[in-house]
Amino acid sequence: YWSFIMDPFQVTLVPALSDNYVYIARDENTQTTMVVDPGEAGPVLKVLDERGWNLTHILNTHHHGDHIGGNEALISRFNAKLIGPKSEHARINGMDEQVVDGDVIDVGGHKGQVIETPGHTRGHIAIWFAESDALFCGDTLFALGCGRVFEGTMAQMWNSLLRLRSLNSTAKIYCGHEYTISNAKFAMSIDPNNTKLQDRVKEFEELRSKNQPTIPSVLIDELDTNPFLRADDPILVGELGLTGATPEDVFAVIRERKDNF
Ligand code: ZN
Ligand code: FE
Repeated sequence: YWSFIMDPFQVTLVPALSDNYVYIARDENTQTTMVVDPGEAGPVLKVLDERGWNLTHILNTHHHGDHIGGNEALISRFNAKLIGPKSEHARINGMDEQVVDGDVIDVGGHKGQVIETPGHTRGHIAIWFAESDALFCGDTLFALGCGRVFEGTMAQMWNSLLRLRSLNSTAKIYCGHEYTISNAKFAMSIDPNNTKLQDRVKEFEELRSKNQPTIPSVLIDELDTNPFLRADDPILVGELGLTGATPEDVFAVIRERKDNF
């Protein structure tokens, strides 16, 4: 497992299922332990037991099984408070706190801003812990990529990404999956002359060859290299031959190309 110190939260990445990351955010001072998107309970329980941590909060970004599948087993073992999107009350069982855009959650004194990011699913939230520079964004934004648009519209997804793009550029992006290498191949295919992208891809390939995570990615690096955040960047739009198209339409073209890549 890999731990990142973010004063005063410590975030542990727990690989789960085939390519999911579950995050455990721990504040030693207050004994607060939050798990984000537990797709399965087993690997999470293993870390909690090894470290003697008592789970206090579970956060779900959206209703997909690979993000909530471990809820029940964790709740039956710990008296943890389940926080998730109000818009998904019908598809996420047992939420103790249902949140909407603009809400601020309190996780053992840590304030998390709720940002609704529909597109991947009808209801989807990201939580921004500003004091810790940490963004938990589920399947909305990935390193060099974004989630598939299953239920929302392309315009909704673009607007969700704009919301995340406007956060502090130092934001650490804790996303739901290790999809970075596949995203990198696609990004290189449409933006091959981007030297910053080339450098990042090299770095990521090295990390993955040592079986290290590429997460967290930092927003400032995504701004220049993630094609899905650049649907309004004249350089990329020009390279795609889409000058004059709206950002929503450019985004849709890029997303559809990736779906068929
Ligand atoms: Zn999903
Ligand atoms: Fe997922």
